[in-house]
Order: sequence, then C-alpha cells, then structure tokens
Amino acid sequence: MLRKNKKGVYTLTRLAPFKNLVCAFSTRDFGNMKPFSKGQVAEVEKNRRNFLKTLGSKNPNVVTAQQIHSNQVALVGKNDSGKNVTGADGLITGEKGLFLMVFVADCLPILAYDSKKEIVGIAHAGWQGTSEKIAENLVWAFQKLGSKPNDILVGIGPGIEFCHYEVRNEVVDKFTTAGFGKMVLRSLSGKTHIDLKQAVVDQLVGAGVPKANIDVSLKMCTYENPDLYSYRREKEKLSGEIAAVIGLLAGRQGSKDEK
Ligand SMILES: [Zn+2]
Repeated sequence: MLRKNKKGVYTLTRLAPFKNLVCAFSTRDFGNMKPFSKGQVAEVEKNRRNFLKTLGSKNPNVVTAQQIHSNQVALVGKNDSGKNVTGADGLITGEKGLFLMVFVADCLPILAYDSKKEIVGIAHAGWQGTSEKIAENLVWAFQKLGSKPNDILVGIGPGIEFCHYEVRNEVVDKFTTAGFGKMVLRSLSGKTHIDLKQAVVDQLVGAGVPKANIDVSLKMCTYENPDLYSYRREKEKLSGEIAAVIGLLAGRQGSKDEK
C-alpha cells in the first residue's frame, strides 16, 4: 500500500520496515526530477538533491537509466555514480550507498529488494517495456546475483491505472501477443483500456516472486492524483516527472523496526 509519510514522500508499506533501505517516490511538491531540456538540468539537480536529503542522504551517489522503453536491466556499481546508463530501463546493484532512480509520469516505477543478499533494483515500465518483459528481466538480474525469487520484495509505485489507460489497437495487439490478453478491458462505449499494474504483477509472479511479496499501489492512478505528474492528464503542458528511488544506506545495520 502506498502511503504518504510525514516527510511528504510516498512509501510502500511492504518495503518500509527496513531501516537501511531508502525506497520512496517524490511528489509534485519536490518539483520536476527529469530534465526535458538542457536549460532544466541545474533545477532538476537541485530538486533531486533536495528529495534525497529529505530521505536522509546528504551526498548521494545516484545512477539513472536512459529510459527508452526497453527491457534492459544494467548491473551498476559506485563507479557508475552520476551516470545515466545508455540503453537501459532497469538498474540493479549489490553495493551500499548507491541510489538507483527512475522517472515517471504515468509509467510504472518498479522497485525491488532482497534483504538477505542486500541487493536493490529498479525499473521503468510502460506498455512497451512490460510487453518486452522488463519485470521478468529484473527478477532474472537478481537471480544472476544469487537471489532467490522467494526473497525478493517488489513495490510497484504510482502509475496510470486501467480507468484512464485507453490504448490504440497496436498496443492491444502487442499486449495480447505478450500474453496479457486478460489485462485488456473493453468498455461499453467500445473503448479499449489495459491494466498495466496487473500485467506487471502477473509477470513477476510468473518469474517466481510470491504474490505476497508484491506491494501494488492500487487506487493511486496518476491521472487522478494532483500530487503527481501525469502525461495523459497534462499532455503538452506536462511540466515534470516524479522520481522513484531505491538504495541501501552505507554503514548502518538492517532492522525490522518500523520507520
Ligand atoms: Zn484513473
């Protein structure tokens, strides 16, 4: 379940009990997190720093992904700090003190954590990445580092829900071919919508992650929540994207205590 904490950021209850785990989503109050043009780079940097400071990290090492709607998950380390990894929509690391970030305005941010192996991962998933199985690839990337799917907790952050996700035939075809025909919904008025969150959950379960390990932010449609940016709602007036971040703080022990 998604909830807003007293710092004004969204967190997921399933991932909240780990004291050394930073896992959160920004809101419009923190400003735009992704530069649309070169002129916005400085402002975005400031916004990201402010957001991460709020989360308790003063000098964070951040890695981002190019986000091209691919299914690629890149293994990164501290050497990649400050990089925007080309050709990737997902990132994974076993290193502490490194924060992985993706940016969304309707697409889904997927955050994953293995508390036994101390590995964190993140992915950006729209209909294309989902059809190309980016969630499955994220689980596979954990397995390559020695994780068992049973030990992976996954949080799916705010994104567009089926109520406002009308799609064209090309999307329906691709989604159906990818095995998500059940997530295509037709309204009485003849419009076609897809349920991206359910498709991602199905994909994760298919990859071996127990359903009980998956925390989905239901009833948190970006189109309906003025706290969040929405490409569909704002169209050409879209002025930003929120950040989703996951990382392990360096030099602290894990704890089951509530934050
Ligand atoms: Zn909606």
